Amino acid sequence: MMTPPTTEHFEIALNTSAGQITTAVEVPTGFVPVTAIVPLIRRFGEEAQALEVAHSTDASKTPSCHKGCAACCRMLVPLSAPEAFALGEWVRSRPTDQQERIVARLVEAKTQLLSQGLWERLSELCNAPEQPKDDVLEVMNREYYALRLPCPFLEEEVCTIYEARPAACRELLVSSPPERCDDLINNSVDPISAPILVSTVLGLLWQELTKSPTRLIPLPVALDWAKGHEQENQQTWRGVELLDRALDKTWRFLSQSMSRSNQGSVK
Ligand code: SF4
Repeated sequence: MMTPPTTEHFEIALNTSAGQITTAVEVPTGFVPVTAIVPLIRRFGEEAQALEVAHSTDASKTPSCHKGCAACCRMLVPLSAPEAFALGEWVRSRPTDQQERIVARLVEAKTQLLSQGLWERLSELCNAPEQPKDDVLEVMNREYYALRLPCPFLEEEVCTIYEARPAACRELLVSSPPERCDDLINNSVDPISAPILVSTVLGLLWQELTKSPTRLIPLPVALDWAKGHEQENQQTWRGVELLDRALDKTWRFLSQSMSRSNQGSVK
């Protein structure tokens, strides 16, 4: 007897501000949690960004980011709920000694944030009944950055969760001299834009799936948040339905951002 296929194959084409990306994806035929769609949407984001980087390089704007430069790893990194769950799963899949090192660094970061009165506010942020306003976020971002706390996942200026790092980390590229990133408040940098903001897309998907707010979960509290909301991550959807809905959110995001940039270029 033939075993039925466990995945379905799709060829996806997306028009982004950097050009068209086409990619083949395998989607589980059965019911899966939302974390199953995270790598796929990240791939769209990375492919679109690779196109953007190619254009920037043509225009002599080469990314100056490189391994060992982690100046931007002192900023507050926001995650969507699906990414927070995916990070929790990834950490649990690591060998015990690695998990222990991660937990120790997170505890250290928590102690420092508690002493600055920021831990509670970051935790409140990700449980807020609605998305906080930009000015509230801006104040918190600045306070956090002023501490110059290295990300709890940074070890000797190298990201220890590189393959599982949040989309916001993947999307932050600059072409300006690296030393300007040492003080992002007082220096200006030349960012290379990301055509798809993956955490926004995943946040909108989560909002639609669960009828809850688009969560903005700061990285230092992400594993705590994911643990406290594990029940929500027990829900499953058909793989094809998740893909369909995620693509719908990606298309909406792309069409809105392209219409905004067209408006900006009309004088
Ligand atoms: S997750 Fe990795 S890339 Fe992102 S801020 Fe932390 S150390 Fe840097």
